[in-house]
Amino acid sequence: MKIFYTALFSAALTMGFAQAPKLSSKKMAAIKAEAAAKIDSRTKMAQVMVDKVFSFSELGFQEYETAKYITGILKENGFTIEMGIAGIPTAWMAKWGSGKPVIALGSDVDCIPKASQKPGVAYHDPIVEGAPGHGEGHNSGVPLNVLAAITVKEIMERDNIPGTLVLWPGVAEEQLGSKAYYTRDGYFDDVDVCLFTHVGSNLGVSWGQAWGTGMISVEYTFSGESAHSAGAPWRGRSAADAVELMSVGWQYQREHLDPLQRSHHVITNGGDQPNVVPSKASIWFYFRQITYPEIMELYAKGNKMADGAAMMTNTSVERRILGSAWPRHFNKTVATTMYENIKTVGLPTWSNEDQMLARAVQKEVDSKETDGMPLKISELGLPVTTPQSGGSDDIGDISWKVPTITLGYPSNIPGLQGHHWSNAIAMATPIAHKGVVAGAKVQAMTILDLVTKPELVENAWKYFKEEQSSKTNTSL
Ligand SMILES: [Zn+2]
Repeated sequence: MKIFYTALFSAALTMGFAQAPKLSSKKMAAIKAEAAAKIDSRTKMAQVMVDKVFSFSELGFQEYETAKYITGILKENGFTIEMGIAGIPTAWMAKWGSGKPVIALGSDVDCIPKASQKPGVAYHDPIVEGAPGHGEGHNSGVPLNVLAAITVKEIMERDNIPGTLVLWPGVAEEQLGSKAYYTRDGYFDDVDVCLFTHVGSNLGVSWGQAWGTGMISVEYTFSGESAHSAGAPWRGRSAADAVELMSVGWQYQREHLDPLQRSHHVITNGGDQPNVVPSKASIWFYFRQITYPEIMELYAKGNKMADGAAMMTNTSVERRILGSAWPRHFNKTVATTMYENIKTVGLPTWSNEDQMLARAVQKEVDSKETDGMPLKISELGLPVTTPQSGGSDDIGDISWKVPTITLGYPSNIPGLQGHHWSNAIAMATPIAHKGVVAGAKVQAMTILDLVTKPELVENAWKYFKEEQSSKTNTSL
């Protein structure tokens, strides 16, 4: 009976993907080469999309033009669009196809404050002084996914390959503001695999625990009492004093924190003018650590310090969580599958002009890297053995919901400091365009693997269940 049941069960499992045509390795290689050729024929489209999103340069939660433009292209190409997902006006989800597997393609879209920069100019030269700019390179990832998706869609339609493609933007990634909401609101409930992309300076992918941190973003707002600062200062209670005390108190605390933590703050409201005792003031913190308990411990210390600052100034304090990100964990099956495609695609051919620009920018910012664009692909990234501190991305939240990887692609110059005008220089030049074309080929080939080989999706979930579901997964 048991044998019969198992046989029936595995037959049913196979039937779930019954329509997926079994392709010989020769046929597989042929449709992948076809996808790459189709993407090569769309290099103009790649350039226009990358440059156009660069020109919008919209900060987190303000990505209106970007959303309108990209969803317009997807609509023209047969995708159905849902706008304003998870209650976020600039967020959207685009879908095409039917049935399993459901492959989700995501990338961030927001830019960096005060990073406005003329592309291709190897010194600081803003387009608009003080304006935001793509000083991270988030103008390139969604165009990459669009290229891959419309290309694979053509092949799936012609060859009757079942499956669903889903595209979505990482809105306000710089504020870690959207992906936790997407997962909580069920947008990844029926997704089988998520292929995320992030701009880098080489082609690469990794599996297991990634370097970097998870984090919580919280704004503390103090309330006091206003008064004439000269006429009756004794009648005032300064909320700005509380902000200053919290800021300086945290700097004292810093010496006694775990060296892997990263915490930083800005004062978002320091009062209005000197002759009015500030009745309201706010300070915004990012608390980053390697694991969930460590993040919560750091956050609790921040809350305690806020309470202390309120007590010292006879004010009150309220806190508001503005964002959060889980530490990232990537899927082994999907990463190793993608890495084979990275080896097939290889790096773009850089021109002398590309290399000259890259080296000039590296020199301008005193980078330790001086060799321009890479000529060799990255090794497959393995799980970190000792934790390494650093940045965060709320793709972490999705990586604990469904098997996920991040494809890095070479659209930016190696060795820059990040979140800086220099990181915008390459982002609307042939370096960015070529990097996107190479990344789109890898992405397209990996989608083709996933929609034609059901065992890959099964193995990805096996890894996910064995390696991740057993570990702690409490949502921030
Ligand atoms: Zn980013």
